Amino acid sequence: TRQKLARLRRLPAELSSGERVELQANMEIPAELPLIAQSGAAGIGLLRTEFLFINAETLPDEFVQERVYREVIEAMGEDCTTIRVLDWGGEKQSEALGNAGFFSGEVDLNPALGLRGLRLLLMHPTVLETQFAAILRASVAGPTRILLPMVTSLGELRTARDLYERLFKRLRRKGVRLPERPPPLGVMIETPAAAISAEALALEADFLAIGTNDLTMYTLAVDRSAAAVARLYDPLHPAVIRLIAETTAAALRLRRPVSLCGEIAGNPRVVPLLMGLGLRSFSMNASAVPRVKQAVRAVSLDECRRFARRVSDEVDPERIARLVDEFSA
Ligand code: PEP
Ligand code: MG
Repeated sequence: TRQKLARLRRLPAELSSGERVELQANMEIPAELPLIAQSGAAGIGLLRTEFLFINAETLPDEFVQERVYREVIEAMGEDCTTIRVLDWGGEKQSEALGNAGFFSGEVDLNPALGLRGLRLLLMHPTVLETQFAAILRASVAGPTRILLPMVTSLGELRTARDLYERLFKRLRRKGVRLPERPPPLGVMIETPAAAISAEALALEADFLAIGTNDLTMYTLAVDRSAAAVARLYDPLHPAVIRLIAETTAAALRLRRPVSLCGEIAGNPRVVPLLMGLGLRSFSMNASAVPRVKQAVRAVSLDECRRFARRVSDEVDPERIARLVDEFSA
């Protein structure tokens, strides 16, 4: 099977009917780079930057961050690296952020609904500026995109974009080497509010990335890490599927790139359904890339669309689970 995997790595990610699909890797720590290179992933669809802040006593400065981002961007060569700015929140306490006075010290009863992701960054814009500046400096090394986490409203995107564009101009005035234009700035669609506002967000964002891990949690009101409700955590719940479908349709209408980077992107049984809903770009654990590629190559677009229509007509989560099992059987 090693040989089979090596052969698969060279084959294109395309449906049996010929349409190309983009399969990229999610990355949490730089040590994953060799595995990502081996997987046949076409770039990084989600670089989580939390690792830079987790074990640090102080916040990593612009140049420390630039070095890390540059290393990843260079390793990806011609393929794109999508870097998500810090997605920190409530229960994930960090010494560096604590030392920098980020958290009030009050106990947060619902950390997932508290100061998290972009909300936190907009409250402490110097952290966001430092990270934007580091990514902008590193982006001369290759194709780069920037992703904003935990967006719930257009105002947040506008504020972040304004800061981003002003920073770009300021760095250029200072004579910093930068790309011709600022790299694309996109938003995560991982709250029901963002999914329902996908069209408005897509009008002002350069791309969308659907994060089904959090989208499932917030849509179903089921904590993604709570054992007691693990059985209720269902990314294929009809309500979640509908939000994925509507987000994708809005992005396609406005001709904005859209990808999906939650755990289900690495599930070869689910990807045909997602392709049937119109998605053509997925980012997943590097280890899942070969088997997802195999699943993509085994089906036609017509089959995917028919499958998606049948699933979209279902309102019972158990029936949907059965349809997904049967499709790949
Ligand atoms: C998601 O929420 O689906 C996602 C990709 O982001 P994370 O898992 O890092 O919250
Ligand atoms: Mg998320």
